[in-house]
Amino acid sequence: MYTHRMQRSFPCAGRSAVFAQRTSGLVRSLCAALALLFLCACPSLPRKPVEEPPPITEPSTPSWVKEPMSWHKLELIELWLEVDAARHSRELVIEAKLQLNEGRLQFSRRDIDSSAAPRETLLVRVESARKGFEEILADPAVSAGARNRAQLGLKGAASLVQAPTGKDLAILRRQQWNARAPRVSNLTPLKGAWSRITVHHSAESTSDPRGGSLEDSAATVRIIQKYHMDDPTHRWGDIGYHFLIDGAGRIFEGRELEWQGAHAGGSNNQQNIGICMLGDFERRAPTEAARKSLQVLLDDLRGRYRIPAERVVPHSSFGSTRCPGPALTAWLKKYK
Ligand SMILES: [Zn+2]
Repeated sequence: MYTHRMQRSFPCAGRSAVFAQRTSGLVRSLCAALALLFLCACPSLPRKPVEEPPPITEPSTPSWVKEPMSWHKLELIELWLEVDAARHSRELVIEAKLQLNEGRLQFSRRDIDSSAAPRETLLVRVESARKGFEEILADPAVSAGARNRAQLGLKGAASLVQAPTGKDLAILRRQQWNARAPRVSNLTPLKGAWSRITVHHSAESTSDPRGGSLEDSAATVRIIQKYHMDDPTHRWGDIGYHFLIDGAGRIFEGRELEWQGAHAGGSNNQQNIGICMLGDFERRAPTEAARKSLQVLLDDLRGRYRIPAERVVPHSSFGSTRCPGPALTAWLKKYK
């Protein structure tokens, strides 16, 4: 094609063709040199068309985000973290890890309370949650809010492993009575080992002396927590007692055992577990069910922390109070 065109441009054959070839070579070299000069003089002009980068598409919201907490949700998060998380923001990945480990703790608490899973299985699950929270805390880019949640998660994991789980000792966890989150900054971590136990009564008249419903007792525990946390004379980080027992013998988890209690006054709280019996025992004794639960709880805690029976005392032993009332104090004196 090219040759054919050249021949048509230069119809004279022979010398003319040779001249034409030489001339065209010269012209081409000159044009190339000029083009190069032109391009060098105008570096801003594109030398060749630049390929457009592919459009950036936002990854769609993962399905686990709107899923209510369930085992299925935890499976979705695990899968997402494995195969899809790299395309998403760091914040969403941290949120996924937080929800995964909070879910593991939530289901472990439920299974402990209902004895639905062997303890060994629960310990493995709690351990993986603990490691997950530690991994989040090790990330320097984690926000203050996420850090706080991970720290609470770690404490929750520790309390779950330490909490009494004996067959006769069903403890109603904080979430089951709808506890408020503690103000961690107002709490004092336990220093040393638990070495004594102090028994109180709540001296309120809202709880049913025979026990009443779970919801009634949970409401009373919430009122006590609110009083301890919000009343200007207190403003504590959480409910002051570690355990509370209602007239039906239900045991409620109060302040977690990572923290020193607030129930015996000042240094009397050090290494001192606080148990509160719901009701006023000035004139009457606690129900048999409540006394039985107190006995089981005391036995368990004493065994766990090697506390001798003589270190289980009524609040009145610290002076300036009649708490927990004469009947309960008399019962404690007989407790062995
Ligand atoms: Zn007291």
